[in-house]
Amino acid sequence: MEHRMKRIDPNFKDAIGTQDARKRIVLIAGGAGFIGSNLCTRLLAAGDRVICIDNLETGRLENLSDAMANPDFRFFQHDIIKRFSIVGEVDRIYNLACPASPPKYQKDPVHTFLTSVLGSLNLLELADAKSARVLLSSTSEVYGDPDVTPQTESYRGLVNTVGPRACYDEGKRAAETLFYEMHETRGVDVRIARIFNTYGPGMDPEDGRVISNFVVQALQGHDLTVYGTGEQTRSFCYISDMLDALTLLMESETCGTGPINLGNPHEFTINELAELVHIQLPSGGAVVHRDLPRDDPRQRRPDITLAKTLLNWEPKVALSAGLGPTIGYFREELRKIQKPLAEPAAEIAVSK
Ligand code: UDP
Repeated sequence: MEHRMKRIDPNFKDAIGTQDARKRIVLIAGGAGFIGSNLCTRLLAAGDRVICIDNLETGRLENLSDAMANPDFRFFQHDIIKRFSIVGEVDRIYNLACPASPPKYQKDPVHTFLTSVLGSLNLLELADAKSARVLLSSTSEVYGDPDVTPQTESYRGLVNTVGPRACYDEGKRAAETLFYEMHETRGVDVRIARIFNTYGPGMDPEDGRVISNFVVQALQGHDLTVYGTGEQTRSFCYISDMLDALTLLMESETCGTGPINLGNPHEFTINELAELVHIQLPSGGAVVHRDLPRDDPRQRRPDITLAKTLLNWEPKVALSAGLGPTIGYFREELRKIQKPLAEPAAEIAVSK
């Protein structure tokens, strides 16, 4: 029946070892997405058991091909908007479930909003029932189009509640409130990460965000589409740095339960990003300008003083360094889906 709660049984009964030595069980909602799938890999390598739940709306099973072969990994296709229960224990829950790229989250805005709100509530109820710690991937978008820079956690933001980004921004803001209140009223052990723009291997080539667009365009010899003047700014964090931050935040016993900015404070204009991509991929076409989407934030840079102080964390990978492996990853992805690249004709000719 439609309204009945789905029962998910990871069946880790084959587990060996005593209760004391048992592996931790970590649930990752949105585990087939970009950050989620990288986190699955990281936690499995660290010796955890991982239950991945994803509705595959934007997540991709290809991201999980290695994890699928691991006996400590379970995948369940489920939409966290719908209530569910887990058989057995759960120690940690990461809520990474929500499309994060504007064109993707704007496709079904009501569903995006409910993913953050109802999905978070369902995960919080689960955390309460299992006495698990639960982490929310919130976002720099809670600051909207900020009129202060850099953004500290105490800045309350400038969000348009009735614009095209509201379904994402307001959904995450409401999710933060749910996390806060479930901690205050029921003592649920929560963590809130405000994640700034993150990139690296595992992104969907068709994600629609600026780094994936520019790299994929340049690899194909196409023009780079800069929206608006390109003078708007973003600060880009490499995936390995973000995984370090998320796991440190999850495991910290002293960081408190308030929101913490996680991101790279080095700020670039979109024009500067296009130049960096050109330097590493000269095969790319020219910069062409397209209309700036409505409500596109003009500036974004995290103040990471809290993360530095409470987690002893700061990013290690500069954008110029992180672009290399990201480009290598996208080159391989395009080969797999047989999209024409700018260079391969010459490469084939040489190898013959
Ligand atoms: N952008 C761009 N060209 C693209 C895609 C995005 O110039 O092909 C711009 C976009 O308008 C924004 C910035 O790059 O100002 C970052 O966009 P993205 O969608 O990556 O993330 P978000 O706006 O959510 O930070």
